[in-house]
Amino acid sequence: METTDILDFLRQKLKPKRLKHVLSVRDTAVSIAPQYGVDQQQIELAALLHDCAKWMTNGELLTTCQHHQIVPDLIEEQNPSLLHAKVGAILANDRFGIIDQSVLQAVSVHTTGMAKMSTLDKVLFVADYCEPNRSYPGIIEVRKLATVDLNRAALEVARQKLERQLVTKCMIHPQAVATFNDLLTQIS
Ligand code: FE
Ligand code: FE
Repeated sequence: METTDILDFLRQKLKPKRLKHVLSVRDTAVSIAPQYGVDQQQIELAALLHDCAKWMTNGELLTTCQHHQIVPDLIEEQNPSLLHAKVGAILANDRFGIIDQSVLQAVSVHTTGMAKMSTLDKVLFVADYCEPNRSYPGIIEVRKLATVDLNRAALEVARQKLERQLVTKCMIHPQAVATFNDLLTQIS
C-alpha cells in the first residue's frame, strides 16, 4: 500500500493543524511500536488513517454511517464527531482499499478504545493522546509510560479521558468505561 495517496488525501482534506497532529501521531506510534512487537507498516497505516474522516461535518458522518448500516448509539447521536473513528475505518476501506482488519479496527476504536484491544490498537490509542503537539495536564506521565509499559500507558490515557469528561460534564461512552475496566485487569 502506497502511503503517498493517503498523504495527498490528508493534505487536501485536513486543516494544517490536524495534518500536523496526524503526522506526529504517525511518528510517535512508529517510534514506540517496535518495542511492543507491532508491525511498522500496520501502525504507520493506522496512524495516518486514524483521523482521515475528521474533515466531515456531523451530517456527513451520520449519512456515511447510514449508507454503511452503522446505527449510531445514543451518545454518538448526541456527539456525532465521535463517529469520525468508525467512519475513518470505512473511508480507509472504501477509498484506500485497506482490508487489513487489524488496521481498520485500530482506526475504528482510536477514540474510546475498547475491551480487549490489540497491541496495535493500544499503540495508536496512546500515540494519538500523547504526540508532542498535545498538551493535556498529565500528559508527561503518559509519555513516560508509553516507552516502558504500554498497558499502563493505555490505562492512564483511558483514565485521563474519563476524568476530563467527568470534570467538563461530557457524556461518557460505555465503551470508554469498558476500555478502562479491561485495562485495569491487564495491569500486573
Ligand atoms: Fe481522532
Ligand atoms: Fe487524532
